[in-house]
Amino acid sequence: MELQVQPKLIIHGGAGSSLHGKGGLEAVRRSLHTVIEEVYSLLLSGATASEAVVQGCLMLEDNPRFNAGTGSVLQSDGQIRMSASLMDGASGRFSGVINISRVKNPIDLAQFLQSSPDRVLSDFGSAELAREMQIPSYNALTDLRLQEWIQERQDNFKSTMAGVVAEPELLETSNAGRGTIGVVALDASGKLAAGTSTGGKGFERIGRVSDSAMPAGNYATSNAGVSCTGIGEDIIDECLAARIVVRVTDGMSLKEAMQRSFREANENKRDLGAIALDASGAIAWGKTSEILLAAYHDGEKVGDTLEWTGNELIGYC
Ligand code: ASP
Repeated sequence: MELQVQPKLIIHGGAGSSLHGKGGLEAVRRSLHTVIEEVYSLLLSGATASEAVVQGCLMLEDNPRFNAGTGSVLQSDGQIRMSASLMDGASGRFSGVINISRVKNPIDLAQFLQSSPDRVLSDFGSAELAREMQIPSYNALTDLRLQEWIQERQDNFKSTMAGVVAEPELLETSNAGRGTIGVVALDASGKLAAGTSTGGKGFERIGRVSDSAMPAGNYATSNAGVSCTGIGEDIIDECLAARIVVRVTDGMSLKEAMQRSFREANENKRDLGAIALDASGAIAWGKTSEILLAAYHDGEKVGDTLEWTGNELIGYC
């Protein structure tokens, strides 16, 4: 197939503090690179940006290492409630589900809602939709997440968030980070899309709403697309994804928009990260947290940010 535009792809598996053992790092790298390679080949064979984003989110949701779908963190009452959203930059449509339980892939519902007149559904409505779509009931709980919750309960829920990835060695420091997933794609016809899916920050009170199903945490236009991770309240306060995308839409380069937005987030002492693409094919990532688990395909090679622990706030290529 002849490509009008060289496709680009960037994904993340959360942000937080250190990844601890090398074993964890290599395992996370393998997981992210497998998704990048499979989804990038879809883009090369003509998948739209939205289709690629949904497939990437499905694969990351199915990986118990990340805090989305299977392996989602538990809320304060020991239940899993997940949120996911999809934004198609070409149509300018945002859709999502908030605090849904007992489904395997929340991103499937976000995709379904793209063509619905009611595009963001909360808990009860999203459960009704799952029933209408005849999605089988699914338990996303893993042993590691249950142990993490039991330990937090013994400590009286002192952590601000759950661990970035579910690794046994991370349980000793369960507030190591976050593990939401996100995908941003530029397809062969130059269209952009962004998707984000999460189990939330972990140990939160019932009814807390994550940024992941809001334009603050996931946003795309025909100019740029962004998916965020980190403390949802910080992302909402910065309105980070929309802020970066609007800056690009108003004429800043992606690099400038990321630099300025992350400088501001840092000054405001936020704890967050983001991945981004623009329509010209620029790729960028940023963090105020210690680490960002992101990987990308620039058309020639796969790269990742797993060992990027410096003080710079953004990176790009
Ligand atoms: N942003 C997510 C939330 O606050 C958590 C994360 O990124 O891991 O719900």
